[in-house]
Amino acid sequence: MRTPIIAGNWKMNKTLPESVAFVEELAKALAPYSTVERVVAPTFVSLAAVSSVLANTEIAVSSQNVHWEDSGAYTSEVAPVMIQDLVEYAIIGHSECRAYLNETDEKVNKKAKAALAHGIKPIIAVGESLEQNEAGETTSFVGGQVRAALDGIPAEDMPKVVIAYEPIWAIGTGKSASGEIAQNIIGGTIRSVLIDLYGDAVAQQVRIQYGGSVKPNNMEEYMSQPDVDGALVGGASLKVDAFTDLVRIAAEVKGS
Ligand code: PEP
Repeated sequence: MRTPIIAGNWKMNKTLPESVAFVEELAKALAPYSTVERVVAPTFVSLAAVSSVLANTEIAVSSQNVHWEDSGAYTSEVAPVMIQDLVEYAIIGHSECRAYLNETDEKVNKKAKAALAHGIKPIIAVGESLEQNEAGETTSFVGGQVRAALDGIPAEDMPKVVIAYEPIWAIGTGKSASGEIAQNIIGGTIRSVLIDLYGDAVAQQVRIQYGGSVKPNNMEEYMSQPDVDGALVGGASLKVDAFTDLVRIAAEVKGS
């Protein structure tokens, strides 16, 4: 059975003092829900401090991105070796990075491999645009993103990999995909690609999240789907109450 995983992507929100105060409060609120893996992804500026506050808790820390090289002339980038002691996870391939930072499938693949090589578990985000969705291209596009991201990643690393299906048209828009759509793409498309690449036993161990306007009022619908193993959450992860509600609902639906 797959442990549900709820990750909060803070994006470019919260200063260093705000991040510290937030996780001090969040850690207490999330403490009872140990059947769910709980992850926060602050900005790079706050990673070290947040990691220190959460050191003796069960709440994991993720970066929002990571480079693939260990060092070099890559102004503004952060190497896996620089964060490997601070994080358990790194979000890779978020649609905002793909759109604004030119993160290609090839870079996503390099980043995922570099993260794994440094003991960091990648949360690989994939998802189609509204145009692709309306043109009926979701399955081929998302399936292609998953194949490209995992190119060369061996089966033994796959239990460490998390995939987040985030239709771009549902991120930060308030428009969420129905539970049925999430299940169809996550169970039908993404897990089928994993079965094709790694076989059923490995594919069944990989956790696949849904992301895109997940809120306390639609969380149960997603978590009730057999192949949805959690959520990657933006807006609703910025408030202690809302994020705690998401984790509580995940624990109620799938946490036993
Ligand atoms: C995200 O940032 O990955 C996301 C899904 O954002 P939101 O929950 O705000 O749609």
